[in-house]
Amino acid sequence: MKEFARIAVNVPEVRDQFDYAIPPELASLVSPGCLVEVTFGSQKVQGVVTKLLDQPEVAETKSIAALVDEFPVLSQNHLMLAFFLSEKYLQPVSGFITAMLPPGLHQQADTLFKLNLPSDFESDSLPDVSRRIIGKLTERGPLRGRQLDRTFKNVDWRKTARSLVSKGLLVSQPVLPEPAVRRKYSRSVLLSFHSQELESVIPALGFKDSAAFTRRLSVLRLLAGESQPAEISWVYASTGANSSDLRWLEQKGLIRFQSEEVWRDPLRDARGDLHYARAPVLTREQSAIWDRIEGLMDQRAFEKPVLLHGVTGSGKTELYMSAIEKALAQEQQAIILVPEISLTPQTIERFMGRFPGKVGVIHSKLSPGERYDTWRRARGTDFSIAIGPRSALFTPFPNTGVIILDECHDESYYQAEMGPYFHAVEAAIAFGKLSKALVILGTATPDVNLYFRAVYEKWPLLELPSRVAAQSPETPAAAIPDTLPLPEVQIVDMRAELREGNISIFSRSLSERLRDVLASQQQAILLLNRRGSASYVFCRDCGYTLKCPRCDFSLTYHRNSLSLVCHTCGYTRKMPGKCPQCGSNRIKQFGTGTEKVEADLQLLFPSARLLRWDADTSSGKGAEEVILSHFRQHNADILIGTQMLAKGLDLPLVTLVGVVLADVGLNFPDYRTAERTFQLLTQVAGRAGRSALGGKVILQTFQPEHYAIQFAAKHNFAGFYGQELSHRRELRYPPFTRMVRFECRDTNSDKAQQVAIELFSRLERLANASSDKTFELSGPTPPYFAKRGGLFRWQVILKGTDPAKLLKDEFFSGIRVEVDPPSLL
Ligand code: ADP
Ligand code: ZN
Ligand code: ZN
Repeated sequence: MKEFARIAVNVPEVRDQFDYAIPPELASLVSPGCLVEVTFGSQKVQGVVTKLLDQPEVAETKSIAALVDEFPVLSQNHLMLAFFLSEKYLQPVSGFITAMLPPGLHQQADTLFKLNLPSDFESDSLPDVSRRIIGKLTERGPLRGRQLDRTFKNVDWRKTARSLVSKGLLVSQPVLPEPAVRRKYSRSVLLSFHSQELESVIPALGFKDSAAFTRRLSVLRLLAGESQPAEISWVYASTGANSSDLRWLEQKGLIRFQSEEVWRDPLRDARGDLHYARAPVLTREQSAIWDRIEGLMDQRAFEKPVLLHGVTGSGKTELYMSAIEKALAQEQQAIILVPEISLTPQTIERFMGRFPGKVGVIHSKLSPGERYDTWRRARGTDFSIAIGPRSALFTPFPNTGVIILDECHDESYYQAEMGPYFHAVEAAIAFGKLSKALVILGTATPDVNLYFRAVYEKWPLLELPSRVAAQSPETPAAAIPDTLPLPEVQIVDMRAELREGNISIFSRSLSERLRDVLASQQQAILLLNRRGSASYVFCRDCGYTLKCPRCDFSLTYHRNSLSLVCHTCGYTRKMPGKCPQCGSNRIKQFGTGTEKVEADLQLLFPSARLLRWDADTSSGKGAEEVILSHFRQHNADILIGTQMLAKGLDLPLVTLVGVVLADVGLNFPDYRTAERTFQLLTQVAGRAGRSALGGKVILQTFQPEHYAIQFAAKHNFAGFYGQELSHRRELRYPPFTRMVRFECRDTNSDKAQQVAIELFSRLERLANASSDKTFELSGPTPPYFAKRGGLFRWQVILKGTDPAKLLKDEFFSGIRVEVDPPSLL
């Protein structure tokens, strides 16, 4: 039996692990993956055992103080995944461990502050922050550091508290808060005697005719009529008895209490969609692909993921379900990840319809109690299909057989808001290998980098090029369904519209088609990609956009200084008076919002029923669902919205999709903008013509010759991919190099800049000292979104063949480090 354990402690910014002795009473219980409590420095903290050891690496070890959960909270595979991700993304392993545990179970250490004031204490002479801390502790009693954080936002109260501690006015003490979540129990009662003996116990119930007697008797009568223990709240409600009556009856030995755990299940009231209850006969295309997937599962070929490239509506989800069914038949579990925005009730109901009683959802909107219970139910395979956004990858199933990522190109798979920063696609690929599960990456518009890797590493690449035709009631059930062509896409040159005197934001083709749609009582969607629409400058006559001569990114217009700035390298120039390409003076910034589109459209079609869907109208909880169902029920004719519209909606009456300005997204200063525009336009085009009514797509643009627009219009991924790849090879962007982005944030821009400048020199020294000569540094510069959450941002980019290797032993305190970030915005 091993006597020592290596532990990853849950302390922010601590990357190393530490060895502890296992006390004899815990020797048989502690194993890798166990959550324990230990002393770390002067703090009590939690940590996870990563390894058992015969000998510790240091001479002196402290002992593990306690075991928090009787079972390991992480499997060996989950632990290995946490280490793999920690190394790949240069993030502390405890961050990934925390992400794998339900919130509330894993606690970070904290410090408790108490007053220790002399009796003659006078606070008047103290500075303001000291007085406020003392005031707060006088008012509320002892408080933990994180409670004080909430009171003193943006104030460095800790420094002040430390000086108060050294003056002896405060005492501080390390504490570990209790887990914030607990199991939930329901209490019930039952008779301790046979119900036929009820009459004989009545004399023991106290003074006949007293109120207590009546209540006690009615409790016994109620229980005598029940074949099962009765829930306490129900007993109270139906008898008027109170808790002291029940305690009295228990003391007399007449009833017994029972306690049973109740699961908090977020799907308790959800019903499966019976339309999907039975698997359809697969189309020929689907069958061919299913044979491949089934073959891989049978051969247990789990080294490589499968890339399932199928246009929207091609029946990918049906194939996911076949793979899930096969995994379940082998007593395995399945994880299906979807982008945050597609985790709608329709998605869940579709899976529940096919797999009743087997589905669980895991996402951040669940209450901590629901997440805790769902996590434990998964660990015990109380359900076997987990659906959710990227965090659902960490579902603690004992034997995951298949991991599916739907719309795997979606950027919500990258965790960017808070550390640990990582990409769920990479995490899934790694986890598939570790746990011997087949990983299926499904998408209509694969990432260029991912596709490149799939070709290079020879992953199975499965293509579904056509759509499944909707079944009509006359089709015989056993018939193989037909496929449908993709909708026709027309590109409209807005420069020509202007030249011919049409200054409206709607081209003549678009207005004509809208008129037809309204006349035939069908529906249309208009999309305006608003993100960044007001900040790029282009020529209305030739479509020319101003770009950085060094980075080839669009320059961003800064209203205050009337200048144009490159957000990658810092290049700055004055706003020109004339177009450098054609000499026209109609060169200016673009700015149109969804409100303006709505207003202009209403002028054009006064009787049309319009509905607007953007960040302003869909902010409330459930607002998106309301807007969508309103539209689906044909209570509106035209839906106007931003890029949110593009994803996964199935709206059969929509026969026209118009993109107000297809080139907007092309002008972000980021190497993936062409790709994002191509993806967005392809996805949007997929919204039209999802039924026998057919459909048409109109892309309005000032840059009709741009390859992203041209290839999107032809639904031609291969063409786009080829051209984009040669562009990236030329400019040395991924996949031909790799990047690490460093970001410094501060309330003060100069401070953030200063940190970034020092960081730049440090990285420069590191790169120069290395034998690897592929490194390239750019910055420091503020990124395109120069401020986030009230903080100024400055960034430095390191490019190279393997930049993470250079940084393996470096530690960057207070700086965000992102390896392979999908965006530099
Ligand atoms: P994707 O996931 O590629 O967008 P889906 O699996 O959602 O495609 O399929 C699109 C529509 O076609 C759905 O309504 C689905 O029920 C239907 N469908 C898919 N495969 C078949 C099939 N083999 N027979 C009949 N209908 C199908
Ligand atoms: Zn021009
Ligand atoms: Zn530049």
